[in-house]
Amino acid sequence: MTPDPWLAAHDYLRPLADLATQVDRAIAELEILEARIPDWDDYAADFRAGVPLLASADARVDLEPGGRMAAALVERLASGTSPEWLVAETRALATELRGEPHAARRIADFLLGDQAAAPQSPGLLRYVAWTAMARFLRPVVSAFGDWRDDEKWLRRFCPTCGSPPAMAQLVGVDPGRRRLLSCGCCGTRWQFKRTGCPFCEADTQRLASVQIEGEPGLRIDWCESCKGYLKTYDGEGNERLLLSDWSSLHLDVIASDRGLERAATSLYAFAPDSARP
Ligand SMILES: [Zn+2]
Ligand SMILES: [Zn+2]
Repeated sequence: MTPDPWLAAHDYLRPLADLATQVDRAIAELEILEARIPDWDDYAADFRAGVPLLASADARVDLEPGGRMAAALVERLASGTSPEWLVAETRALATELRGEPHAARRIADFLLGDQAAAPQSPGLLRYVAWTAMARFLRPVVSAFGDWRDDEKWLRRFCPTCGSPPAMAQLVGVDPGRRRLLSCGCCGTRWQFKRTGCPFCEADTQRLASVQIEGEPGLRIDWCESCKGYLKTYDGEGNERLLLSDWSSLHLDVIASDRGLERAATSLYAFAPDSARP
C-alpha cells in the first residue's frame, strides 16, 4: 500500500502526509553523511548492562555530523516552499541555530535528552532533527540489528537511542509470533514481551486491545494499570507507512476520547491544529 490509497480513505491526514513528503524531499537535496559503524566488541559490555548504543561512551558513535545534517535540513525547509506556518517556524529556528557556535553538537545533545540544549521551538527541532539524524544513523541501525541478540535486550526503551517506543508491531505466526516495538526517533525496531505494558511496571498486566472499525491491521493496545496505550500494526509488509505514526494519528484521537494516555513518544506534537486529524 502506498500513501495514496491510504490518504484517499483518510483525507484528514493529508497535511501531515504533505509535511512528511516535503521533509523527505528536502533531505534528498542534502549531502548525505553516514555514521561510522562502531566496533561491537567495545560496546558489548554496555549492551548487556542495558546502556543504549548512542549513550555508550565505549561505542563512541559521533553524532555531530548528523547534527550538521539536521541544521542543513532546517535551513532548507526555511527557504523552501513549505506551508506558511512551517516556513515561519523553521526560519526562527534557523536564525537561532546560526547564532550558535556549536549548533551541530547542541542538536545532538538535545536529541539525546539534554533539555538545557533545547531551542525556543523544541517540538519542531525534535521532529526535523530526528528525521535527519535517523537518515544519518541508518547504516548503524541496520548493522546493530544484525549484531544484536534481541532476546538479551527486551527492554522498554530503544536499544539505539533510549527513547520509549512510538508504536508496536506483531510479526510472524504462532508459536513464533513476536511483538516488536518501534522507535519513532531513530527508526530501530526491537523485540519486547508479547504481553505486558511497555510503559509501567505492571508486568503481570495483560494489555487490553481495541480493534478499530475500518482499519484492518491497526489496533490500540492499552494497559489497565497505567492507562497508557500503544498503537499496534498487526501485519507485515507495509511498515514504512503504517509504523510512521502520522499515518495513524486518528487512532490517537480515538484513544484520547476513551480516556487513554499517549505514553509513547511522538515527533508530531508540534504540528498546529490545522495539520491534525
Ligand atoms: Zn531509537
Ligand atoms: Zn502500564
